[in-house]
Amino acid sequence: MHTDPHPFYNGRRFMQDRYGAPIYRVAIDLGFGCPNRDENGAGGCTFCPPDGSRAVFNKSARIADQVREGVTFVRQRYGSVKFMAYVQTFTGTFAPADQQKACYEEILSAHHFDALTIATRPDCIDRPTLDLFAELRERIDLWVELGVQTSHNTTLQRINRGHTWADSVQAITQLNNMGITIAPHIIIGLPGEEPEHFSQTASQLSALPIQAIKIHNLHIIRGTQMATEYAATPFPVYDEHDYAEVLIDTLRRLRPDIGILRVNTDTPKQELIAPRWHMVKTQFLSYLEKQMRATKVRQGDLCG
Ligand code: SF4
Repeated sequence: MHTDPHPFYNGRRFMQDRYGAPIYRVAIDLGFGCPNRDENGAGGCTFCPPDGSRAVFNKSARIADQVREGVTFVRQRYGSVKFMAYVQTFTGTFAPADQQKACYEEILSAHHFDALTIATRPDCIDRPTLDLFAELRERIDLWVELGVQTSHNTTLQRINRGHTWADSVQAITQLNNMGITIAPHIIIGLPGEEPEHFSQTASQLSALPIQAIKIHNLHIIRGTQMATEYAATPFPVYDEHDYAEVLIDTLRRLRPDIGILRVNTDTPKQELIAPRWHMVKTQFLSYLEKQMRATKVRQGDLCG
């Protein structure tokens, strides 16, 4: 267990412990699209904006150009020396394995990366993709970020995820058996969920072999199905104080060795309908830590 004096094991310290230095992400868009929109015509997850969370500086189509621009951007901004290639947009495995392989070869030959992260859905990792992951795992520190969102099937259905909690458990188990680092994404505040739902999701994930996690508060974003739903029948969204309360409960249920890579969502102001917070990200982080210290609680103290 880490001996961190802070109330939770934040991403910066997790990466420092793992890589011996800060590591920064270079987002790469492979243009694979998303099976939940493109394949079954279901229209995608109700919270997801039309651009599938595309990184703002990722304009070039050629992978090598994206890598060059991304590395330059990160180097100028952070002066970093360690880099993680991050296939973030839409679903990073939604293509035949040989097409994925060609893209990953191009990424890895365009720059010396210390790690590669592929973001995908739990139901979009077939056998040829697992074989490809096994190959990549031999060459580079491989992470998979999995869009889990919640452990509750009723909510998964309501937000039109198109997969179940059992799919998430199976994907996590398979990836862990291959020695791949796993970081699920969850959303706190999904419609129809109460604090006990978030607690259950955290406890259930904490019992699985995950190494890190990204926690998002629900954002209602323009152009999404959820924005339409929210306009027709508004439902509660968390302000920063109420969110801190449920987030702290979530953190307390996560094992202390799990790296907390993210605790809230970033959405450009012009795209965000709700919630409108007064605190900026750094203020919220310091408020969160202060609340945890004041109440003498820490990550994992309600775990197990
Ligand atoms: S969140 Fe992911 S799976 Fe859902 S619609 Fe957006 S890109 Fe597709």
